[in-house]
Amino acid sequence: MELAGADMLHIDVMDGHFVPNISLGVPVLASLDKKSDMFMDVHLMISDPAKYASAFVKAGADLLTFHLEAVDKPDEIIDLIHRLGVKAGISLKPATAAKEVFPYLEQVDLVLVMTVEPGFGGQRFMSDMLPKISSIRKEAEARCPSLHIQVDGGINAETGKLCAAAGADILVAGSHLFGADDPHSAMECLR
Ligand code: ZN
Repeated sequence: MELAGADMLHIDVMDGHFVPNISLGVPVLASLDKKSDMFMDVHLMISDPAKYASAFVKAGADLLTFHLEAVDKPDEIIDLIHRLGVKAGISLKPATAAKEVFPYLEQVDLVLVMTVEPGFGGQRFMSDMLPKISSIRKEAEARCPSLHIQVDGGINAETGKLCAAAGADILVAGSHLFGADDPHSAMECLR
């Protein structure tokens, strides 16, 4: 992906509990970090982010994003992540309303809007998530204009454009790049 020109590497961590699938864990991240200088953006789709946050930071994460739905006290997790010395992000599943994240906008570096149900790759983009992106961007405008809004799920040249128009500034692409004959030109297209 470095060769394809990505700005950061987005890594989906699934625990088989918060989402039905299981993906990679701490040792794989640590070995990726050794092989690459890229910014490691780690998306924790796990039930207990507090328990594993420090292990992922030690393994090389530069940004830890957890799910709002997974925790009772998001502010405590945000503090914990910042105390570990990395950036903090908060993610919303498709069914979670934009306003649920509003209380935390000043505290986080990034809000991740899931544009598919988390847990599986290759799903179709949910276009009804576009108003959610706009409403978070609108809320952030006055309060914290530097907030990053990231989208994850079903992103390609066409859906990426819609998300950027709605206010997203970080696009996560999986199948679109990995399935492309020429990942470099697929990436240029997204830009
Ligand atoms: Zn992700």
